[in-house]
Amino acid sequence: MKKFLFLLLLAASATAQLQKIEPPFWYAGMQHSDLQIMCYAPNVAQYTVSASGGVIIKNIQKTENPNYLFVTVDTKNLPPQTFDLNFTAVDSKKPAFTQSYELKKRRENSRLRKGFDASDVVYLIMSDRFANGNPANDSNPSLTEKADRANPGGRHGGDIQGMIDHLDYLQQLGVTALWPTPLCEDNDTKYSYHTYGQSDVYKIDARYGTNEEYVALSKAAHEKGIKLIMDYVTNHWGAEHWMYKDLPTYDWFHQFPGFAQCNYRMTSQFDTNVSEIDKKLCVDGWFVRSMPDLNQSNPLVLNYLTQNALWWIEYADLDGFRVDTYSYNDKQGIAQWTKALTDEYPYFNIVGEVWMYSQAQMAYWQKDSKIGAIESFNSYLPSVMDFTLQDVLSSVLNEDQATWDKGLIRVYNNFTNDFLYPNPDNILTFIENHDTTRFNELYKNDFQKYQMALTIMATVRGIPQIYYGSEIGMSGDKGKGDADIRRDFPGGWKGDANNAFSASGRTAEQNKFFDFTSKLLNWRKKNAAVHFGKMKHYLPDNNVYVYFRYTDDQSVMVLINNSNQKQNIKT
Ligand code: CA
Repeated sequence: MKKFLFLLLLAASATAQLQKIEPPFWYAGMQHSDLQIMCYAPNVAQYTVSASGGVIIKNIQKTENPNYLFVTVDTKNLPPQTFDLNFTAVDSKKPAFTQSYELKKRRENSRLRKGFDASDVVYLIMSDRFANGNPANDSNPSLTEKADRANPGGRHGGDIQGMIDHLDYLQQLGVTALWPTPLCEDNDTKYSYHTYGQSDVYKIDARYGTNEEYVALSKAAHEKGIKLIMDYVTNHWGAEHWMYKDLPTYDWFHQFPGFAQCNYRMTSQFDTNVSEIDKKLCVDGWFVRSMPDLNQSNPLVLNYLTQNALWWIEYADLDGFRVDTYSYNDKQGIAQWTKALTDEYPYFNIVGEVWMYSQAQMAYWQKDSKIGAIESFNSYLPSVMDFTLQDVLSSVLNEDQATWDKGLIRVYNNFTNDFLYPNPDNILTFIENHDTTRFNELYKNDFQKYQMALTIMATVRGIPQIYYGSEIGMSGDKGKGDADIRRDFPGGWKGDANNAFSASGRTAEQNKFFDFTSKLLNWRKKNAAVHFGKMKHYLPDNNVYVYFRYTDDQSVMVLINNSNQKQNIKT
């Protein structure tokens, strides 16, 4: 008899509360007022749901998995408050359990937050590899991969506290926006350090810190005039994601069934000659086996991703998103996602990773593109990345002898195609990132070539982006594997022999790179002509490229000499 009672109690308590409720809270006064709350518990679909305090439930959606309920609450005109959701069995009058839900008060002028723009310089950090501010969180009992700094592809212990600790360094360098690689939980068994295969998108990975520490980073950065950009992944999650292990719907992810390899051919998104199979494998194929491909054409998935993104902007007071693998998403779905975010925050900036080698193909993805309009497509994506400029800068500085199509004419040519972009000022310019061979590897730490490339990047139209370590001459070869281009920043770990975070800790060579970078970026801060000024450039002559950036009150002249000779310039 005793045993029987015990079992009964277990059965009752198993559904006595939700295991997950997402978003975990929301905000009063959002335009996205039809809030779809995902409730997760064993057999939760057996209950009807009602709300206290006159809060209106507009819809309750069940899926083929009884462990999920999607409850849409009308939050329009509701003041900040906490209400109850009552879960009641069909044959009962009394709720089996109650879940409280909070609508928080928004920050003042939250909707009008101004995102990063061409007046900023963005600093991209490989989050696991920058600085270990808290060695106590390097491993976590609940997460599989433990810290192993000796393993190039392992977790090294970099974290949010490490970023907070070095905001002064970043301020001195002259950067005004921070883009850390993804920080939400990635519980993969290996290579989780890159964190693009997330297992919980509402939770900061415990090896980086907590949600509260992420908010503290945002606040501390803002106090120093530095914006915070979140690296957001709409295209895929990791195979360790709890929802992949208990699918809400079979088509939450693209099924072949299960895995099929993406062909990475993004041209299939607009190629009028494309075959259906090639297009399907680009958009629906999985980036890699460990990253199930999200189905943005399922409205539940799209709304989940939209609400998650809105939640992070509001919760962490963000200034922008960088969206991973943007052009691999279902394009109508990702356009809706992007529009929803920019409808909610009209001045927020979002830069998409659109890694293509043709300006026409990249411009297709920028908001209000006339190229996209050919097929009535508008991505609503404010910003794209200048991969063609990065590609040119990766080799052009070795072309000392200019010919018809060699030398700085190739840089000039990059800007002759600006007419394709609806908004050339809102393009991210960079000489390297976490997926490319390091600039200083390509050019064997040739300081003059670094000076030329960085000057071009900092003075042409667009938003310059530095990859951590560029400023001290860090090198790394993608051909040797990703870990080589994602080395630990020297001085980020206690006991590092070389501490590049301070002038006295840097080598003479590192100081040379740092001092130039810091001088250029701090100069750039105060010179509006290179932010939003117009550009006028002149055909390179003898491998000398001259251009102006100008406004009504200021004109900046830039001369780049890529030949081996000193040259006299006639004005
Ligand atoms: Ca740590």
